[in-house]
Amino acid sequence: MNEEETQKMEEVSKISGEFDRMAKLLVERDIELSKANDILREVDKVKSEFVSVVAHQLRTPLSAIKWIFNFLLEGNAGEMTEEQKGLLKKGYESNERMISLVNDMLEVTRIEGGALKYDFESAHIEEMLNQSLVDYIGQAYSKHVTIVLDKGDGQFPPVKVDKKKIQMVFQNIIENAIKYTNEGGSVIISFKKGKDVMETAVKDNGIGIPEAEQKNIFTKFYRATNATKSQTEGSGLGLFVARSVIEKHGGKMWFESNENQGTTFHFTLPYATPTF
Ligand code: ADP
Repeated sequence: MNEEETQKMEEVSKISGEFDRMAKLLVERDIELSKANDILREVDKVKSEFVSVVAHQLRTPLSAIKWIFNFLLEGNAGEMTEEQKGLLKKGYESNERMISLVNDMLEVTRIEGGALKYDFESAHIEEMLNQSLVDYIGQAYSKHVTIVLDKGDGQFPPVKVDKKKIQMVFQNIIENAIKYTNEGGSVIISFKKGKDVMETAVKDNGIGIPEAEQKNIFTKFYRATNATKSQTEGSGLGLFVARSVIEKHGGKMWFESNENQGTTFHFTLPYATPTF
């Protein structure tokens, strides 16, 4: 071996040594990263458990408060003046918002923890809406927003749903429509019979969603700039939860919106029995 070859061999062996050292370092880093990941996962689990326990604990007193408000508003503790009733209604609505937030928080921890339990049954979507409509009408009334129910041609085939979860979807979508619509506006809820799915649409003529922000709207905790400016309260959890619930049912959720003109949210749900 001449001198030049020896030199090359030494270089190759140096590079190969360096390569081995880097590879070892990479393996060490990989082990460290995977340990850090395990710790992060554990912290995340503890955080979710904490949120879940707190939310569960909050539900009982909030339900009790709802019961008391209802009891008083129905006049069971004596007649009240219109002013007193008005104040109680405001309290009732704030409590409802709190219940909805706590439910959304719980659902988010379930979605993220993969602990989703759904009890599917066959039900009529328009009947499910009717059951909770009185709450939305109350909220709309105090804001002078009109709610119109467009049942189209009336009779629809039943859909396969977890009723409680779909009530949550209605609550999030309809309350948003009322919340993001100015005094005197309107909200139209309509149903449409598709081939394999029932479609529900909730249309408002409110503040709309700025085009540049529309792609973020289903992201957890995201609130559009015009929503935060409008001084409405919100957590940015409702749509994340609503879309997850609909997708878990095998449906889809989407929207169209124009800023300062209004927004329409649509969602589909498969029929309980397939149609041919
Ligand atoms: P929030 O608690 O903030 O209402 P959501 O997850 O329900 O959270 O909605 C996310 C964001 O989407 C809202 O903060 C708002 O910017 C926008 N948004 C939802 N519904 C409407 C609507 N009907 N009109 C205008 N903006 C809406």
